[in-house]
Amino acid sequence: MGALRISLTDRCNLRCRYCMPEEEYAWLPREDLLTFEEIERLTEAFVSLGVDKVRLTGGEPLLRRGLPELVRRLAGLPGVKDLAMTTNGVLLAKHAEQLREAGLHRLTISLDTLRPERFSALTRRGTHPDVLAGINAAVATGLTDLKIDTVVMRGFNEDELVDLIEFGKNMSAEVRFIEYMDVGGATGWTPEKVFSRKEILETLAQEYGPAEELRKTDAAPADRFVLPDGTVFGIISSTTQPFCATCDRSRLTADGMWLRCLYAMTGTDLRTPLRDGASLDDLRDLITGIWQQRRDRGAVERIGQRARGQVFVSLENLKRDPHLEMHTRGG
Ligand code: SAM
Repeated sequence: MGALRISLTDRCNLRCRYCMPEEEYAWLPREDLLTFEEIERLTEAFVSLGVDKVRLTGGEPLLRRGLPELVRRLAGLPGVKDLAMTTNGVLLAKHAEQLREAGLHRLTISLDTLRPERFSALTRRGTHPDVLAGINAAVATGLTDLKIDTVVMRGFNEDELVDLIEFGKNMSAEVRFIEYMDVGGATGWTPEKVFSRKEILETLAQEYGPAEELRKTDAAPADRFVLPDGTVFGIISSTTQPFCATCDRSRLTADGMWLRCLYAMTGTDLRTPLRDGASLDDLRDLITGIWQQRRDRGAVERIGQRARGQVFVSLENLKRDPHLEMHTRGG
């Protein structure tokens, strides 16, 4: 167990077609959301079991009020070597400096297009300039190891790969291209819309010459490549080449459901024992017992299920259980 992704909210200020396309969802009840103290306590339990990388995500984590306070608490936990956050950047200009001061180590900002009209069509919001301002603010804080994550979708943005690489160079940020994943529900995923790792590499080779793959040094999801001009970028090929065998990540939803795989259909409720007074040792025992039985290979299994025409989660099931939504699981 090396990495924990903590979703801070199931709410988001964008409505990306591939993730959360509808305006209204079955939201998590407010009183179920973990408080900062509870998140800290659970993180402490995970860290004592070997987790050293923590990523804050959502929903949109910057919608969580008082976020720097949580960052300060988590950054102060001995054992947290890497504290990162994934954000859509819309509110980042206001918060970047405070987050750095609070002890955040790294930021990943999602940016699928450099064209405002495409952004509006994808996200149903007109906040592209805010995202760019957020990226500029992140650069200005001096936070190093800035990443830009781009979901590549055929017919939407596969013609922007070179522009995004150039944008990343200007911002001293590493761009990572993510294969479009089928996360279920109303997102309208089809295999034809997946622009594969192979195609991404071919597209970039036409402009820059062939990229060379760098040796993997950790269990991070991206494979990294270097272009002939020295630019490094990543590809997260969860759809065509899943990396379940080396995955050491688990996820905590904003209401304390622990998921051992992005594609897991069930999780473990850690909020109830926590609120019932479980000690750190009780939590550690609960977590260890379950992690030892972990056999999840969600993304690999999805390949076979897709071939049989099975959708990941139907709209009906998503409405019954909001935990199955990508924005609740913490992408
Ligand atoms: N709101 C934050 C953001 O936009 O970065 C954090 C949550 S978001 C669910 C985390 C990441 O998941 C984003 O980079 C997003 O692009 C990615 N994502 C969501 N749905 C996806 C899908 N269907 N396929 C691939 N990546 C997806």
